[in-house]
Amino acid sequence: MPSSEATAANSPKTLKRISLKSFKQFELSAAMQKALDRAGYEKPSAVQAALIPLALEERDVIGQARTGTGKTASFVIPILEQLDDEPHPLRPQALILVPTRELALQVHGEVEKLAFNQPFKSAAVFGGSPFRSQQNRLQQGVHVVVGTPGRVIDHLQRGTLKTEELWCVVLDEADRMLDIGFRPAIEKILRKCPEDRQTLLLSATVPDEIRRLAKRYMYQPTLVNLSPSQVAADTIDQYYFSVARNQKRELLLKLLERETPKQAIVFCRTKVQTHRIYRFLADRMKAVGTIHGDMTQSARTGTMTKFREGKVSLLVATDVVGRGIDVSGISHIINYDIPELCDDYVHRVGRTGRMGQEGVAYTFVEPDQGEFLTSIEMRIDKLLIRENIDLGEPSQPRQETVAAPPKPPTSRAKKRYRSAP
Ligand code: AMP
Repeated sequence: MPSSEATAANSPKTLKRISLKSFKQFELSAAMQKALDRAGYEKPSAVQAALIPLALEERDVIGQARTGTGKTASFVIPILEQLDDEPHPLRPQALILVPTRELALQVHGEVEKLAFNQPFKSAAVFGGSPFRSQQNRLQQGVHVVVGTPGRVIDHLQRGTLKTEELWCVVLDEADRMLDIGFRPAIEKILRKCPEDRQTLLLSATVPDEIRRLAKRYMYQPTLVNLSPSQVAADTIDQYYFSVARNQKRELLLKLLERETPKQAIVFCRTKVQTHRIYRFLADRMKAVGTIHGDMTQSARTGTMTKFREGKVSLLVATDVVGRGIDVSGISHIINYDIPELCDDYVHRVGRTGRMGQEGVAYTFVEPDQGEFLTSIEMRIDKLLIRENIDLGEPSQPRQETVAAPPKPPTSRAKKRYRSAP
């Protein structure tokens, strides 16, 4: 989990070493304390310790935190604590924008979990699921709406969602929303929201584009900086294989055979590749599933349910859908295709090692992909450890085969990392 350091972006106040041993110090309502106990949340995570008090003071906050750090509850708790009981048809009080349907369902689930025994209702609105049933739910009056930007705009345009009662807007995984082209939609939505609202922005990275967005649409935001050098959790061991393209499938099989992961995600770059690797694995082993953008929403939800229940233990996924996955028992991440964007690496690997659990990540690097590896290592400020599995001779001898440096010790202790120069 990242260190709990928070800094003020545009005020001299610097918040340091926040360490809270219990949620009691926030003086939360009895109902919320009960919901936290029931959820098994004993003490706040670093991002919660930093963000909750600021949000309760109604400040705008930029929380730099990756998923798996408890960031969802860090904005859900203060929202629920400040909601007015009375629901207004079509007029929610809080709007949470997220990049993917899966994340919308997850955040909605967290709202429902933490609103236990309280009269608060939440709706998840996203494309690929019937507009009319979402409209009916909004009509009944919900306190919180969690949605993807495209579908939220549809509702705004058709008048089935109105912004007058909104006092809080959350941009969750803001960097991802910008990456996948939601910037115009987000800006359109923010322009329709009351100016005196509170805005909370959560993002694994805070590049200039996010800062520009914050400057334009947030009021004197405080940056809660959860140590970017620790974006890839310390509990995740990270390795790479140097492998010829035509040996990657064989390497994948051997690696799975050697590791027998409890639950793993195999990330591929494209939908077509994802489907091919899924077929390849499903023909050879049990409990394999896939999730990518070409699937219907119900097929995606079905796969995720099976993955969560452990009926699927090996999930082949693309980045876009892989990003929102929050399943606590994922032991292995396999980057079958190395991500070209460093942030995608951070997000993929962040699917494991959640809330301090141990995890391991393997990245397959083709001979001409060294530059991607280097930029990932620079981004996470760590060198990946080279690993080796004997695959025999490649069919194209000019390509590099799996290298054979001394095999690292089997212990997955942190000391296996070489420190970056
Ligand atoms: P998130 O980063 O919001 O995706 O949360 C990651 C996981 O941590 C989720 O499964 C949450 O239910 C769980 N979680 C969040 N806050 C806490 C907490 N304070 N204590 C224990 N688990 C938590």
